[in-house]
Amino acid sequence: MTHAGDRNVTKVLSGMPATDGAGVRMTRVIATPELDHFDPFLLLDEFRSDDPNDYIAGFPDHPHRGFETVTYMLAGAMKHGDNKGNTGLLGPGSVQWMTAGRGIVHSEMPQQEDGLMWGFQLWVNLPAGQKMVEPRYQDIPASDVPETAVGENVVARIIAGELHGARGPVSGVATEPVYFDVRCRGPAEAWLPTPETHNVFVYPYERDISIGEEEGTPVTRGNIALLGPGTSVSVRSDTAASFILVGGMPLNEPIARYGPFVMNTADEIRQAIMDFQAGRF
Ligand code: MN
Repeated sequence: MTHAGDRNVTKVLSGMPATDGAGVRMTRVIATPELDHFDPFLLLDEFRSDDPNDYIAGFPDHPHRGFETVTYMLAGAMKHGDNKGNTGLLGPGSVQWMTAGRGIVHSEMPQQEDGLMWGFQLWVNLPAGQKMVEPRYQDIPASDVPETAVGENVVARIIAGELHGARGPVSGVATEPVYFDVRCRGPAEAWLPTPETHNVFVYPYERDISIGEEEGTPVTRGNIALLGPGTSVSVRSDTAASFILVGGMPLNEPIARYGPFVMNTADEIRQAIMDFQAGRF
């Protein structure tokens, strides 16, 4: 399974239980005491529960400035709305890539009273020169996410970036992200080229996998594997398993962070708080 440019695992970290919004219980994977960020990624949450008490309160109106929030649904439905009059419904397999830019106030609320709610929220940083762009949405239905075979028994859904000649629907993002949802139907080996310029992580969300040369490094469900330099990722599974692979160009810029605002300096954070309080979002 070894290929010359394969990346190896440099670190495996576990997520931690967290509560956000009006009381949604989830697992925080990036933005933890062990992993503040993984440039250009500022946060990764997995929400997965079939107990409505864990998700029914949702995420009522809250602001963002200076980065992008990406919601990817595996199961369940969420309704989105914002202070500019945009609304949208997110169902299984769909994606919302929201560039908050200079500022938005939005809500994300469950559109179900019971059943499984499962998905990811990823925060992607914007470079200094784009933190104050006009907000932009890319609402992508499941039917617009292409699938491609990446090995025997393995299919990848391509949310962003290019994989084996297929291109994901997300466009015009500063950090040129790749975001693949890879599903092994049984024992499988997957080979996934990734841009050399990018930081890349893998997060198995269904059963365990191994990554990298020879036998590989085992990564269990719910742990994140940070990968070192290279041009591809080899993944092996001994059984049916699923994982997301996400990569982006690191920004190497200072990060000033306060809740839902992520800027470069403390002054810019103070400005963000003032602008929000003055209703300028
Ligand atoms: Mn939000």
